[in-house]
Amino acid sequence: MTTTMTGRAPSALEATPAEIAAKAAAARRAAAVWRRATIKQRVTALRAVWKALAARREEIRAVVHEETGKPLVEVDLMELGAAGLLVDWMTSVAPRVLGDKAASKPWSLFNKRAYERRVPRGVIGLITPWNMPFLIPFGDAFAAMLAGNAVLLKPSEWTTKTALWLEHAVAATSLLPEGLLSVVPGGGAAGEAVIDATDMIVFTGSTKTGRCVAVRAAGQLKPSVLELGGKHPMIVLADASLERAASAATWAACSNAGQVCVGVERVFVEAEVYERFVELIRPKVAALRQKLDGVDADLGRMVFPPLLDRITEQLEDARKKGARVIGGEVLDRENLMIAPALVLDARMDMKIMTEESFGPVIPIMKVARAEEAVALANAGSEGLAASVWTTDLAKGEALAAALEVGLVGVNEPASHYAFGSLPFGGMKQSGMGRRHGEEGLLAFTQSQSVLVHEWPASAPDLWWFPYNEKKAGFLRKLMGLP
Ligand code: NDP
Repeated sequence: MTTTMTGRAPSALEATPAEIAAKAAAARRAAAVWRRATIKQRVTALRAVWKALAARREEIRAVVHEETGKPLVEVDLMELGAAGLLVDWMTSVAPRVLGDKAASKPWSLFNKRAYERRVPRGVIGLITPWNMPFLIPFGDAFAAMLAGNAVLLKPSEWTTKTALWLEHAVAATSLLPEGLLSVVPGGGAAGEAVIDATDMIVFTGSTKTGRCVAVRAAGQLKPSVLELGGKHPMIVLADASLERAASAATWAACSNAGQVCVGVERVFVEAEVYERFVELIRPKVAALRQKLDGVDADLGRMVFPPLLDRITEQLEDARKKGARVIGGEVLDRENLMIAPALVLDARMDMKIMTEESFGPVIPIMKVARAEEAVALANAGSEGLAASVWTTDLAKGEALAAALEVGLVGVNEPASHYAFGSLPFGGMKQSGMGRRHGEEGLLAFTQSQSVLVHEWPASAPDLWWFPYNEKKAGFLRKLMGLP
């Protein structure tokens, strides 16, 4: 992918087919060694890897900031802090979740032992976006390796350096088999090659690309987990703490300059508190400090140049259809800076209420009742994240249950990612499968059902040949048949 719109450009690195084949072969060799390590050994090695990476925090901050322009505080919290929380949870549960599990057995098969073993899939392909260039690749690679796999990572061309830093830093620890985590730089063609060369794909990105990835993987009967786009509806009830809700909307729509898949993308406010909510949020948005250097900044620049035009077009469409737009000016096209925007009196016929913005924009729409907002939200094709704001927690949780999304919050915007124990993913067009949670770890394995005949050592089982009526009668009784 290329762009001539700004001075910022994607990486020119593009792995050749021969390089990809060599990395895939090395990953297979590494996987063959790694799968023989016990879970305890993997936990110990991977904890040590994380410790070594975390000790190089300043380098991570520098490379992530260089590639994304995000405030350094956000690198600490969202990329590194969240990664540390995931490591803690995953390594603490891995022995139980990934260990062998005894299976119950019919009493008539008392002389056999049955258990389920989790077997690594082999080589996992990760295809990742640019918005969380350390956290997403690291978290998924960590889970995949913990489950006994090797990883081929195809990062976004906009954040290749961060991925290469990760590859080199992991290799420098010498704690894992060589080639266990490899980066394949490049664009769509490299992504396709990674699908072809691996045994399972975890894709994070747009719904449009995700569909192509799923089709390609399915054609080869390979499983894929898809984490795609969203359109978080934040639903504010009249009895909500409006102060907290206004702060939450500002943060969850503008953190990472709005480039968060679970970030608030639209706010529905019950009519009786609409004006008050607007009054509260205006100064909060106006007070945001936007800077390029990442120091003492609340938000920085956009990462992906086409977003500037997408957001500008959405704001223009809203303005034309009667919304009051405050902010949203392109401040510096060369450096991809766009001011945060409030879009007041938004309506559902405006693109900004239905198409993913992925930028620091907060459209606010008045609704008669929260149930109307739930119906509007459910009518859309996306189903990633949503939140409900009310002091009546029972009502909030009931509304949350009615929302067709994978991630929902009550008085809580979008911090699910930090809870390794919670499955993370979307419903409908927002994804397939889950990362995190026990199911996220198990997804990197396949079950192998093991049956062991314990005794008697030499006699055949009763139901083997030869058949005869006497034996059949006995077996019918044994199995409880009439
Ligand atoms: P894209 O879908 O454009 O790209 C995602 C990845 O796919 C990139 O590495 C991209 O490479 C690669 N790719 C592009 N074409 C192909 C192809 N044909 N086959 C295989 N891989 C391909 O998404 P963005 O990078 O723009 O990310 C933003 C999107 O990600 C938003 O919609 C956002 O909501 C979503 N997202 C979802 C999350 C979730 O967990 N649900 C989390 C974070 C983001 P390249 O960039 O080099 O073209």
